[in-house]
Amino acid sequence: MNGKIKLTTYLTINITLVCSLALLALALSLRVGAARKGAAQQATATTAASASPERDERLWQRALKLHRRATIVDGHNDITSPMVDEDYDLGTPSVGKFHTDIARLKQGGMTGEFFAIYVDRKYATEGGSARRAMDMIDVVYRAAERHPNDLVMANSAADVRRAKRQKRVAALMGIEGGHAIENSLYALRDFYRLGIRYMTLTHNNTNDWADACCDKPRHGGLNDFGREVVREMNRLGMLVDISHVSDETMNDVLDSSSAPVIASHSSARALANHPRNIPDDVLRRVTKNGGVILVNFYPNFIDQRAIDATRARAERLKPQLDSLREQYAADPKRLEEETNKLYAVNPVPATPLSVLIDHIDHIAKVAGVNHVGLGSDFDGIPSLPVGIEDVSKLPNITYELLRRGYSEEDVRKILGENLLRVMAEAERVARASSRSVSGEGSLQRLNETKR
Ligand SMILES: [Zn+2]
Repeated sequence: MNGKIKLTTYLTINITLVCSLALLALALSLRVGAARKGAAQQATATTAASASPERDERLWQRALKLHRRATIVDGHNDITSPMVDEDYDLGTPSVGKFHTDIARLKQGGMTGEFFAIYVDRKYATEGGSARRAMDMIDVVYRAAERHPNDLVMANSAADVRRAKRQKRVAALMGIEGGHAIENSLYALRDFYRLGIRYMTLTHNNTNDWADACCDKPRHGGLNDFGREVVREMNRLGMLVDISHVSDETMNDVLDSSSAPVIASHSSARALANHPRNIPDDVLRRVTKNGGVILVNFYPNFIDQRAIDATRARAERLKPQLDSLREQYAADPKRLEEETNKLYAVNPVPATPLSVLIDHIDHIAKVAGVNHVGLGSDFDGIPSLPVGIEDVSKLPNITYELLRRGYSEEDVRKILGENLLRVMAEAERVARASSRSVSGEGSLQRLNETKR
């Protein structure tokens, strides 16, 4: 929540400075994207999975059977934020409040879930980024301790497969926001030792070594230290995540990485023009790199109609939003509640599940079916397409993919096998690295020359 307010304030200041209409429109759309971590969710439908009246029952049964057997891995889930901020216990049913709980993870057939170790940009300016990441890592471990029959910590592709056999959900972890390492490769290595298996190089904020999608560029992509971070991640076997970074950073990562990369929660720019999405030229490079793009489910990233409507709404409601910000400047929680109320009476059109499947389709066509997967962003986004309202609804994706004519083998790839292949390949690259002792060639810490 704090993050949202901070980002909103930041963007507003930015707009005043730059004073460009185009930027204003972008910032307005991003503000909604920023209403993510811990945001109160809009009313969530709780109907049975795939309640569509025209459902083909035979196909549905085939989908369920395939889904139960498949190894399903999701690249990004932000339930970690309420786990750390509100002491939310994953074992407590939270229908209507969160997208994720243990019962619904199991209902949705989830095998492996990447818990996002999300570090808000405020820690980059105020300090404490690494500490925040460690707090979040601890809540994931404690959830696994508290629910040993349902959850198990996992560090590798083999661990995920073992969890499947044990009928437990594999808890994986990825850092979101490279400022978490506080410019230290020493800290990066420690995070790997704690079980971090990917790092999103930036959040929406540019850091000291990588440019973000949605902030002023400072390096034209990655700087030298940023490239060293990528190489050290390759050496460790930590996946490099190109979600949230600028296009230049995506390309610099693809130039530098010796292991396949991921986009843990990003969709296709060609279908919805948002800087959080991946452009086609990068999709083609990911094919060569052997990586995987895990599709983000958020309507305001994937649905051009929703993006346009949200932008128009933000412009229309600007006077009210401005006065709310003034009125509740000292009370971010109340500001969020009042803003959500205003949005609730000014809804944007719902996004159908088919729009999400279109993104999978597009990436499968441009990058190849071996290079697409799922990166839900559950509990990091305030709304979801109809039919995929929470983690229990994943079988609907399997059904829709079969309905579009994907083979069972290809569906399994999209549901998790592609990501597992990439994890295993990153593990292999790490084993094959000539730099086998920590610190060989990589004793670097970026000197603090700023601020
Ligand atoms: Zn994110």
